[in-house]
Amino acid sequence: ALQCGIVGLPNVGKSTLFNCLSNAKAQSANFPFCTIEPNVGVITIPDDRLIRLTELVKPERVQPSVMEIVDIAGLVKGASKGEGLGNKFLSNIRETNAIIHVLRCFEDGNIVHVDGCIDPIRDKETIDMELQLKDLETVEARLQKAAKLAKVGKNPEAKRLADVLERYKDVLMQGKSARVVELSEAEELVTKDLHLLTTKPVLYVCNVDEASVTTGNAHVEAVKEAVKDENAEVLVVGAGIEADIAELETYEEKQMFLEDLGLKEPGVNKLIKAAFNLLNLETYFTAGVKEVRSWTYPKGAKAPQAAGVIHTDFEKGFIRAEVIKFEDFSRLGSEAACKEAGKMNVEGKEYVVQDGDIMHFRFNV
Ligand code: GDP
Repeated sequence: ALQCGIVGLPNVGKSTLFNCLSNAKAQSANFPFCTIEPNVGVITIPDDRLIRLTELVKPERVQPSVMEIVDIAGLVKGASKGEGLGNKFLSNIRETNAIIHVLRCFEDGNIVHVDGCIDPIRDKETIDMELQLKDLETVEARLQKAAKLAKVGKNPEAKRLADVLERYKDVLMQGKSARVVELSEAEELVTKDLHLLTTKPVLYVCNVDEASVTTGNAHVEAVKEAVKDENAEVLVVGAGIEADIAELETYEEKQMFLEDLGLKEPGVNKLIKAAFNLLNLETYFTAGVKEVRSWTYPKGAKAPQAAGVIHTDFEKGFIRAEVIKFEDFSRLGSEAACKEAGKMNVEGKEYVVQDGDIMHFRFNV
């Protein structure tokens, strides 16, 4: 399953945020969330199109896309050297598709900061450095192998990999994250199985106190300034106050409290949308009477690759796809009506799937 990991130093509000996510369920029916392990929650990606298709097709089952949120506690200075069970946490991060990096931007004398005072930039650098050191280890090990392979005989792929690894090594040594290195398509192919920690897409969450949820504060400004070249989103969320809201009994009470704060929706709603965007995925649908379902695929995927999301056999045996645009289906009401109106297209292997396509794959087994 798709996974987003929540990282950050101790006491910055990670588990408070995680709990807010599980409480989002109570606040808004659009975000069903269930906790499958103490630190892993599954959240349904809300999609109005799926609701519409369900109305029209009336299937036996509906299956929305889901995303797992993992609270990765325990990252501390020295984690890359195994400090504080560091290696375990780092391997948890390796399994995620994207990272939510929580930064403490609230002052509270009662809540200790591991490094004494509030400084989200320093905190960010502490975490980044651990991830970068771990990546440097990975890169150096792989570089040795790749360089050896590149030398013996003609091995253009090893050569290409070694070349990228050199560039990674360079930036990591400068204390930057590997994601700043831009890769060509061919380079992306040879680095696919590296799974570096600092190439994962990241989103920053500034955890602020009540007074700053709509305005931000000086810490938030500092964070925005510090990450301005990273092309990453910075969200301002008051995890503490949202946790308080979640304690309220009724929906009306919660809504009133949010409005008092100047918020239209809980910050976690923003967070979930942003996290999904971070994964750089699009959605297609299958709409049968047995099941209406949404599937996520990497932007730009061609039909066989998108079919592979359902089953590898669909990719291997791909013959063609019948495609209906969501808008046409919604307007005309059924597959038959779309076919009748000439709104069902038959597409081949080279078709680039578009967000909202309703797909029916034909394949050989
Ligand atoms: P974690 O170690 O990063 O998971 O941090 P926690 O979520 O356990 O939070 C540490 C402490 O900070 C807890 O006592 C929380 O109640 C508190 N806390 C979290 N968010 C906020 C906030 O926005 N404002 C204030 N004042 N306290 C918060």
